[in-house]
Amino acid sequence: MDSIRNPFKTGVLWPNGQSGFNLHITQRKRAEEEIKNLAFYDPLTQLPNRRLLMDRLKQALASSARSGREGALLFIDLDNFKALNDTLGHDVGDLLLQQVAQRLESCVREGDTVARLGGDEFVVMLEDLSEDDLESAAQAETVGDKILSTLNQPYQFATHEHRSTPSIGVTLFSDHAQNQDELLKQADIAMYQAKKAGRNSLRFFDPQMQETITVRASLESDLRRAVAEQKEFQLFYQVQVDSSGGPVGAEALLRWQHPERGMVSPAEFIPLAEETGLILPLGHWVMATACRQLAAWVAQPETAHLTLAVNVSVKQFHLPTFVEEVLTLIGHFKIDPAKLELEITESMLLGNVDDIIAKMTTLKARGISFSMDDFGTGYSSLQYLKRLPLDQLKIDQSFVCDIATDDSDKAIVRTIIAMAQSLNLNVIAEGVETEEQRQLLLNKGCAIYQGYLFGRPVPIEQFEALL
Ligand code: C2E
Ligand code: CA
Ligand code: CA
Repeated sequence: MDSIRNPFKTGVLWPNGQSGFNLHITQRKRAEEEIKNLAFYDPLTQLPNRRLLMDRLKQALASSARSGREGALLFIDLDNFKALNDTLGHDVGDLLLQQVAQRLESCVREGDTVARLGGDEFVVMLEDLSEDDLESAAQAETVGDKILSTLNQPYQFATHEHRSTPSIGVTLFSDHAQNQDELLKQADIAMYQAKKAGRNSLRFFDPQMQETITVRASLESDLRRAVAEQKEFQLFYQVQVDSSGGPVGAEALLRWQHPERGMVSPAEFIPLAEETGLILPLGHWVMATACRQLAAWVAQPETAHLTLAVNVSVKQFHLPTFVEEVLTLIGHFKIDPAKLELEITESMLLGNVDDIIAKMTTLKARGISFSMDDFGTGYSSLQYLKRLPLDQLKIDQSFVCDIATDDSDKAIVRTIIAMAQSLNLNVIAEGVETEEQRQLLLNKGCAIYQGYLFGRPVPIEQFEALL
């Protein structure tokens, strides 16, 4: 009976005195041990790996929910680790990681967990902190500071002394309702903030930060949809007048009429559109709509003389097809290129200036004009300015705003106007809200204005009625 159930019990003796049965058990145990090791521990540092960390975090959340005591996750990333790997080789990189692992373990208590996620990313999990938010944050910070100073100590590799610093992100946890992946992400985000703050520092995850990220993500998906559908965008028109108050043109300003959010300001979605590349289809829509409007204006005597200014983003301008795109629209709508004015910003000059100049020159040769928007807020050197085929400088509204009360703004405006005159450029002031501002600008030699004093940006029907 016995021998059938377990044939090894009667196994022969092996030369070394071990029975076949015993060897099998040892081998199996060792294999099990090895598998467990590989599955839960990092082979390089012998620290728990991500899987074991997540498992322990799950238990920690449950026990924190029972005890009411908070815990903390510290996400630790070594600054410039890649540079060390690239210059001194992976073997040295591995040595550093092993030493970091040891130092981290020396910073925490018995029950705490130090894990390696991979690469140069480590996580320390602290348990049984205070029941009070502020107090447990202070406890976590104390450990974080200790880690910072410990990891800042020089490392010795044979003859080479190396210095390394970490960036640490901290998030607190207190109940079962929090999700482990979410918590790890929060600590990761906080670590990223620490990096952004200049490295070798510690940052706490702030729910406000998470909120911003969530809002941004949903705005981005809404923007994607709206750009694809092209139904929720609209151009508003703000009048530009000469010194006698007569309209000479308008600036086209984009509006997004969102079904739930209402009117979303371009200041809110243009930067997002630029980051995501959505500015390219969006910018094309703006340009096409503006050209169509110019064509409609030419057909009416009251509007035939008006110019239309269109804001162009850097990304859009850098598109290899940009020049062709504009010229195609002009041909398609049969408009007078002299009526189209492109507003660019000084930030364009940070990129490939020669490419910018070449494109501007081509468009200008066809009669299109250029205005430097928000002038005075950027970094244009006079040297660049002289090389650009500009037609106009647009004095930024921040200077106009305080021109009546701030002497330095007064001086800046005077300088901009003098500069424009010496470069043979027109000047327009934006953000003119009061008669006093208009008068001061006129006295200094600026004769074209845009601002609430003359009209707010409005839909086309209202704009034409205003004329
Ligand atoms: P910007 O080109 O400097 O446009 C002027 C902004 O000042 C507009 O804000 C306008 O409504 C506002 N404004 C006009 N007059 C006054 C005034 O008297 N007082 C004050 N306080 N503000 C005045 P808006 O329409 O919200 O546009 C914000 C920015 O969004 C624009 O600044 C421009 O950089 C960008 N933007 C708007 N439309 C487009 C577009 O079609 N394409 C691109 N790339 N950017 C656009
Ligand atoms: Ca503008
Ligand atoms: Ca502006």
